[in-house]
Amino acid sequence: MYTCWCGNKDFFSFNADYGECGVCGTLVSLNALLPEQLQVNDDETDFYGKKYWLNHQIEDFGYPGIENRARADLPERNLHWLKTLLKFSLPPATVLELGCSHGSFVALLKQSGYNASGVEMSPWVVGYGQKTFDVPIFIGPVETLKIPLGSLDVIALMDVLEHLPDPVATMSHCLQLLKPDGLLLIQTPQFKEGMHYPTLVETRGAFLEQLKPDEHLFLFSDRSVRELFRRLGAEYIQFEPAIFGHYDMFFAVSRVPFKIHDTGKIESVLLETAAGRMTLAFLDLQKRELEVVQKLKESETDRAARLNNINALNGMLKDLEYDHLARGEQIDTLTVMLREVEADRAARGDQIDTLTVMVREVEVDRAARGEQIDKLTAMLIEVEADRAARGEQIDTLTAMLQKSEADRLAKGALIDVLKENLHILFLRKSFHWLNKLTNWPEVNKITEIINKLYE
Ligand SMILES: [Zn+2]
Repeated sequence: MYTCWCGNKDFFSFNADYGECGVCGTLVSLNALLPEQLQVNDDETDFYGKKYWLNHQIEDFGYPGIENRARADLPERNLHWLKTLLKFSLPPATVLELGCSHGSFVALLKQSGYNASGVEMSPWVVGYGQKTFDVPIFIGPVETLKIPLGSLDVIALMDVLEHLPDPVATMSHCLQLLKPDGLLLIQTPQFKEGMHYPTLVETRGAFLEQLKPDEHLFLFSDRSVRELFRRLGAEYIQFEPAIFGHYDMFFAVSRVPFKIHDTGKIESVLLETAAGRMTLAFLDLQKRELEVVQKLKESETDRAARLNNINALNGMLKDLEYDHLARGEQIDTLTVMLREVEADRAARGDQIDTLTVMVREVEVDRAARGEQIDKLTAMLIEVEADRAARGEQIDTLTAMLQKSEADRLAKGALIDVLKENLHILFLRKSFHWLNKLTNWPEVNKITEIINKLYE
């Protein structure tokens, strides 16, 4: 049965190695080493012994060895921590660093004018730090050291709180070692409550690196760390930017309100001593480096944005090029079509010219025919007039003919009558004469009949 530092035993499941405390929100290791395994009795074999520094860090996590770290940490995290510490506590304050490793931060604090010392668990690493940086380092744990209560200004714990099997007891002891206005300066991984393990794995979250259940026993959230110190009577916490902000938190803790020193005050204190001036030079260089890094980041972002722009423009250019080619082909096609149309137009022009000539000829012909028609019309009119005149003449002649005919017929009839009369006369004369000559009665009788007939 596991118990959170807060006393709670009910956990939400986080993953196979950790449970999330249902009361305070701390991520609690379910596979921690036992407290006695975390002490260094045998430097050669125990977990936090010599091998932790020489093999474990390199082989199990791929971190640089202690030799490299002793050099690399100074201009990097040590300067970041110092810069923050100066805001809260100025030299020559007394500072103890718990878990000081190779001792480079203790050395920087000493260089800056602090009365600094460190504590480590492995006698080997204590010896290494003492030899490497010529600084006082004691073999812990801190509870076993004879440090007068209320004697320290600052206790620094960088990447230590999460390793403590009983953070309440150790922090309580540390607070007792501090002067009443003393402070703790702490860097520890930050568990963000509500974080889900599958999401963390899926997104390859930076916090995954902090899940080391054998040694990272309590992974605090900002809420749970406040609760821890509130219970210990240190209710003042000020969070500062962590150098590894993607998985760490960094804060100062005190039982009284902080007295913050401004930059002018800090610089004037550092400029008071030759060693302090050296420290200030390091801080200035670091500031410059951070500004350059920031500018580089901005420049990189800008460069990336410009590269994207260039890529986008290249894409557009290719599209345009393609379009240009397509339009070129279209223009060629249209040119051919235009030429054909032009040729056709020319041919039609010729045809129009020919037709125009023909129209003109037809027009001339039409005019000529018009004249001819006019002439013929005139002639026709004349002929018509002549015809009418001749009609009249014919009518006259016809009338004359009819009259002549009637006259002829009348004369014929007269002739017939005359002929008949002549015949009758001839007949009467003939019988007259015959009667006279013959004197025959018969002839006389006939003559009388005829004379009676034609009287
Ligand atoms: Zn808890």
